[in-house]
Amino acid sequence: MLTTMKLLKERCKEENLNLWQLAIKDEIENTGKTEEEIFARLQKTLDVMKASAKRALEEDVRSVTGMTGGNAKKMHEYFLGGKSVLGETPAMAMAFALSTSEVNAAMGRIVAAPTAGSAGIIPATMMTMLNKYNYDDRKLCEALLIATQIGQVIFDNATFAGAEGGCQAETGSASAMAAAAVCYLRGYDVEIQENAATAALLNIMGLVCDPIGGMVEFPCNLRNANGIMNALASADMAMAGVEMFVTFDEAVEAMKRVGDSLPERLRETGEGGIAVCPSSIKLKRKYIDKLPEEEE
Ligand code: SF4
Repeated sequence: MLTTMKLLKERCKEENLNLWQLAIKDEIENTGKTEEEIFARLQKTLDVMKASAKRALEEDVRSVTGMTGGNAKKMHEYFLGGKSVLGETPAMAMAFALSTSEVNAAMGRIVAAPTAGSAGIIPATMMTMLNKYNYDDRKLCEALLIATQIGQVIFDNATFAGAEGGCQAETGSASAMAAAAVCYLRGYDVEIQENAATAALLNIMGLVCDPIGGMVEFPCNLRNANGIMNALASADMAMAGVEMFVTFDEAVEAMKRVGDSLPERLRETGEGGIAVCPSSIKLKRKYIDKLPEEEE
C-alpha cells in the first residue's frame, strides 16, 4: 500500500505512536531487526552526515571536474568575520549545506538524503539543531526517522529524481523532510510537522533541474544552501501557526503534476535553464569537455 500522510496520521492516532515510533515499528516488522540494531545503523548515518557537513568548512574541497568548490569555506570565513546579515544560525546552516554538497561533488562520503544532489540539506539541519540546542545523537536519530517518513510519502506518490520531477523533487523533498524533523526536535506534533513539510514543498514548487553540463555541481550547491533556509523558514512558519490551505498529500500530488509537465530540457539534461547561459557553456567546455577556451 502507498504511504500517505493521511494514513500515517491515522496510524499515529490509532496506535498511539509518533512518526518515528511508527517507523521503528514498521522497520522491525519488515526486517526482523531489533530497535537497537536500527538505531546503531542510524548512528552511522548521522556520523557520516556530521562529517560531510563539517569537512569543507576549513578544507578547500574541489569537485572532481575542478569546476566548483571552496564555497563552504568562504561562507564559514564570512560568518566568522562577523559580516553575515542573517546571523549565526542561517549563515552556518548554509555553510554546512555547502560543505556536504562540495564533498559530494568531490566524490567524498555523503548520505544521499534523499539524493546525492540534495545531500546537503538534512545534514545541515542536524548540525544546525545540534549547534543551537545541543540535542543528543539519539534525539537526532529520531528526527532522521521523522524525515524518512516524510520522504516515504514523497517516494510513494511522486519522485525524488531531478531527471523526473526537476529540482523541486530533489531539494524540495529534502527541505520538506528536514522541516518536519526540526518541528519534531522542537517538540511539535505530527500536524505541525506536516505543515512544515507542506510549506517547504510549496515554497519550492516548480523549481527546474538545470545543472551545468549535467554535473551535480552548480547550481546544486546554491540550492542546497537555499534548501536548508527553506527548511528552517518552513519549520518556523509552521511552529508559529501559519496556516497551510493544502495538505501535505495534496502538495506532493501537485509537485508530481508540475514535475510531469516540465519539459525534458529542464529535467537534468543540462539543456535548459542556467545550463545554457553563455557563461555556463564556457565552463562546461573548459571543465567537463576539457576543450581549450574559445577566442572571444
Ligand atoms: S539542479 Fe538538478 S542535479 Fe542539481 S540538485 Fe537540483 S535536481 Fe539535483
